[in-house]
Amino acid sequence: MSGAVKRRPLIAGNWKMNKTVAEARALVRDLLALTLPAGVDVVVAPPFTALAGVAEELRGSAVKLGAQNVSWADAGAYTGEISPLFLKELGVEYVIIGHSERREYFGETDENCNRKVIAALKHGLAPILAVGETLEEHEAGQTLEKVLRQTKAGLAGLSAEDVARVNIAYEPIWAIGTGKVDQPENSQSVIAAIRGSVEGLASSRILYGGSMKGDNAPGLMAQPDIDGGLIGGASLTAKAFGAVIDAAIPKAVVA
Ligand code: PEP
Repeated sequence: MSGAVKRRPLIAGNWKMNKTVAEARALVRDLLALTLPAGVDVVVAPPFTALAGVAEELRGSAVKLGAQNVSWADAGAYTGEISPLFLKELGVEYVIIGHSERREYFGETDENCNRKVIAALKHGLAPILAVGETLEEHEAGQTLEKVLRQTKAGLAGLSAEDVARVNIAYEPIWAIGTGKVDQPENSQSVIAAIRGSVEGLASSRILYGGSMKGDNAPGLMAQPDIDGGLIGGASLTAKAFGAVIDAAIPKAVVA
């Protein structure tokens, strides 16, 4: 790890627009039937409609609840939006902000992401800010330019202390849901650059995301600056998600 900071690994499952309430509850029950390691933070982020049911299933367990988006406003005339207060009420502790699917299909901008990060921190929600480059940008050698711009814009105006409370997910967009995982050494160098780009990020957890699974997770987790994963497809069954969680055991930090 960089410097002397001990960062507790974080494995977060992004269920995207999958799972009815009944299916979500069943998946959590399967997950809790596994022996989950101490010293690894495990988060599940179901659809909004399943948050309350999943919160009930998680009660008394060490697995944390996450949401896939949050509004930057507390309340008011924002049809279709979800306030950070609503999430807090349900026991949500983490929130994914700026996932590439939200940026691509729903017009999420760096400025919006920054407002959402600030709103999340104000309400004690831990952001997982997603950044990443397209295949075109990757092939044009523009990866660092893109991800450092997104990182700095997403964290604009925050103190170093607040930056340290933000988790970043580096997700090469060409690796999301494609089965094409990035080379661990390549992601390590991008993540090291992200870590050095804003004061406070030395203490933040920086995750890799993009087709991370049980078979490739150990190689990714072996990289010094990769503190965990944001997992899509492999978070949809307890067995596959459990295999990724186990890959974080060598870096477990028991309080
Ligand atoms: C994601 O949705 O953030 C993701 C990384 O998906 P997948 O693991 O399926 O590539």
